[in-house]
Amino acid sequence: MMRITIEQIVKAVNGTLIRGTGKGEIEGVSIDSRKVTPKDVFFPLLGENHDAHVFIPEVVEKGCSAVVVSKEPELPAAKDTVHVILVKDTTKALQDLAAYYLSLFELKKVGVTGSTGKTTTKEMLYWILSEKYQTARNIGNFNNHIGLPLTIFTLEKGTEAAVFEMGMSEFGEIDLLADLVRPDIGIITNIGASHIENLGSRENILKAKLEITNYFQSDNILIVNEDLELLSKEKTKGNYRLITAGSTGRSSFILSNIRDHGEDGIEFAVEHKGELQDFRLFVPGRHNAYNGVLAVAAAACLGISMKEAAEGLKKMVITDKRLNIKGKNGMKIIDDTYNASPDSMRAAIDVLISTIGVRKIAILGDMFELGEKTKQFHYEIGQYAGEQGVDLVIAVGSLARHIAEGALTKLEKNKVIHYETKELLMKDIGSMISSGDVILLKGSRGMAMDQVVKRIME
Ligand code: ATP
Ligand code: MG
Repeated sequence: MMRITIEQIVKAVNGTLIRGTGKGEIEGVSIDSRKVTPKDVFFPLLGENHDAHVFIPEVVEKGCSAVVVSKEPELPAAKDTVHVILVKDTTKALQDLAAYYLSLFELKKVGVTGSTGKTTTKEMLYWILSEKYQTARNIGNFNNHIGLPLTIFTLEKGTEAAVFEMGMSEFGEIDLLADLVRPDIGIITNIGASHIENLGSRENILKAKLEITNYFQSDNILIVNEDLELLSKEKTKGNYRLITAGSTGRSSFILSNIRDHGEDGIEFAVEHKGELQDFRLFVPGRHNAYNGVLAVAAAACLGISMKEAAEGLKKMVITDKRLNIKGKNGMKIIDDTYNASPDSMRAAIDVLISTIGVRKIAILGDMFELGEKTKQFHYEIGQYAGEQGVDLVIAVGSLARHIAEGALTKLEKNKVIHYETKELLMKDIGSMISSGDVILLKGSRGMAMDQVVKRIME
């Protein structure tokens, strides 16, 4: 982070300095009392169950330069070196300071949203843009109203481009992030069923994602995967430039010739304005060709040739718990335990099938927040696993019962097992898998299927 003065902070957060001289600088922003350093400004946030204001004495004790609070803390008189800035709402103040900090930079900004593939597309674009620009991106999956501000504070002097992942589960959330970032370019990767429980329908999910264009002007650009009916030109056009990518000849960036090399990744081609370029990606999954073409299109809008993009994409590495393939005792473990939705379950099953091995085993946990059609979504995943040729489906959790039911319509009885809990599965898992197996593990974050991975790796 570049240094900013206390005066700048007070002004940016529209606060009142109630203690301290108002002279001085900070070079970090923290919301975690355990990690605070003397050079930080600390924001105690209000959570559902916690109020971080209780940590104020602790951070002041640690010598923290400044705190931004919504209630006046009781501090010993001797601690007069700390600056205390009073605001109405500390989360809002964090966002306001981030918006101000971002305004100190002149840089190209891309926002990435969508039901699945946000982190992957963000990482792809990061590697591509890094071929030409000093580029920043979210740390991991820091993509919400708190994570995004914290990401912004990581921008260093000289940053020329930034890619921001924007997540949401409700209306208004992308609007807030778009207002904060004011992206030049927005990408919507796809519209799936994640968070349908909150939003009611896929049309509403699209509407919520389109909030990314809320602050667009006529020269801003929205990039979408046109193969998806919901992301057709008709449904996504607006008072901005629309650029389409997809595998039909209609799109501006045409994806073709996807070659699946299993765990070694994929190759694909993109055609744009008569130019054809081949791409190599060392990350598995056919679906990543769709994320790839979106990243290539965004990079092209920022002056990166397809040839340069191909060089950048080759350098991309995989992120933790997202289709990570690990070896253990002659087995291959596909760790995709970060989260799950129907689309990403299908994508992960495709990767399982394309990975070389003796038996293909899918250990699939519950998918949460899917609303009324929860049962059907699970059932269809079971059917899909059976159709694609999974050798053994192990469904885990009470919703996953329906995955097992779906799988039983396609597979013999001895190839489908249901466990009511993960703990019961963990007792048995050792005796069910052996050398040569390829094992996919996936489920919603709440299922913490990574614990099963851990057990297998022990
Ligand atoms: P989150 O909302 O959890 O942040 P995300 O949108 O960032 O998710 P990624 O982390 O990029 O998504 O990908 C998660 C999983 O979704 C991948 O491991 C893969 O299984 C699947 N996935 C990624 N891209 C696509 C796609 N274009 N179509 C279908 N599935 C996809
Ligand atoms: Mg993500």
